Amino acid sequence: MGIIAERISFIKPSPTLAISSKAKELKAMGRDIISLSVGEPDFTVPDYIKDAAKKAIDNNDSRYTLTPGTVEVRKAIKDKLLRENGLEYSVDEITVNCGGKHSIFNVFMATIDKDDEVIIPAPYWVSYPDVVKLFEGKCVMVDCHAKDNFKLSPKDLENAITDKTKWLILNSPSNPTGAAYTKSELKALAEVLLKHPHVWVMTDDIYEHIVYDDFEFANIIQTEPKLKSRGVIINGMSKAFAMPGWRIGYAAGPLDLIKAVNKLQSQSTSHAASICQTASAVGLNGDMSFLQERNKAFKERRDFIVAELNKAKGVQCLTPEGAFYVYPLIEGLIGKKTKEGKVINNDSDFAEFLLEEKGVAIVPGVAFGLSPYVRLSYACSLDVLKEASKRILEFCESLS
Ligand code: GLU
Repeated sequence: MGIIAERISFIKPSPTLAISSKAKELKAMGRDIISLSVGEPDFTVPDYIKDAAKKAIDNNDSRYTLTPGTVEVRKAIKDKLLRENGLEYSVDEITVNCGGKHSIFNVFMATIDKDDEVIIPAPYWVSYPDVVKLFEGKCVMVDCHAKDNFKLSPKDLENAITDKTKWLILNSPSNPTGAAYTKSELKALAEVLLKHPHVWVMTDDIYEHIVYDDFEFANIIQTEPKLKSRGVIINGMSKAFAMPGWRIGYAAGPLDLIKAVNKLQSQSTSHAASICQTASAVGLNGDMSFLQERNKAFKERRDFIVAELNKAKGVQCLTPEGAFYVYPLIEGLIGKKTKEGKVINNDSDFAEFLLEEKGVAIVPGVAFGLSPYVRLSYACSLDVLKEASKRILEFCESLS
């Protein structure tokens, strides 16, 4: 009998983290690597949040906190949800966890029994299926195509629902495509869910604040408040506040569910780091005008990378509404050969050969469940992006 539990064989390591680690390793070995692999903003944490963290350390804010998070940080989240999303939650309906991924992990661990089905629109963020599988749930992937701007249609949602469906996950703006649902699209999906009262919805709003061209963010629960009693909002500090390493995520939902998560958390991490909670409360209550300038920079990068990719032979790229990813189709390059005679059979080959030959790290679409695409994160400076796109164009041009 081996030491490793069977459940570990149900999952694979996170591909986004694996590729970004590989890029870091190659860089450390002296190779000239540009990583467009991981999704983390290149901006720094706003000064007022840093100052709050320093103050928290000096104030010896270093004891255990309440399991679901301090009242202070949950109050800041409660106020945020009311102010920005028009949704009223009590502090007891909010739990703070060690990053958005941990919030999702906790909610699924607290709710998924063997063979429960979870509808995951594809392409999806890499961790959704693996977390579901860890708890022996069944992933029901629904392909969402470029012609529909990678969005789930009400008809496809209806067809995917069975008696065993427990959850639908929505992520808007999306990782990996950047596509974001309009209010009317969400309303149409909500109408389907209203017909199936046993289905819960998780809305992963982590990219809420990163939207362009006057796009107005909304989640499905604010669009259809009747879903609040069977809906969970996931959000966190990683993207908008550029604090991925501080690991603060949260979930808001019905009391029984949040209590179950807290019971679980009391036996695992206990709570998120005290200093990070205090600083996050200040962050959430603070002036978020810094986002305007950052989103302007993101938009400039988005427009640049989309235009460049569309110049590349065999590549087609849509313009996303939000987040900091693009998800170009590389169908035109399948079957082509590199200068060394290696054949590109799929998007993994493309990503691998691009890294080998040109030192640009990107994530193959297979990791997100829709091929042949690749994901590029443009959360880096325009100069880095210019060099990366030059190399990508050269690489595509060199294929025969
Ligand atoms: N969400 C980011 C990404 O997709 C961070 C890495 C991860 O946890 O997947 O790159």
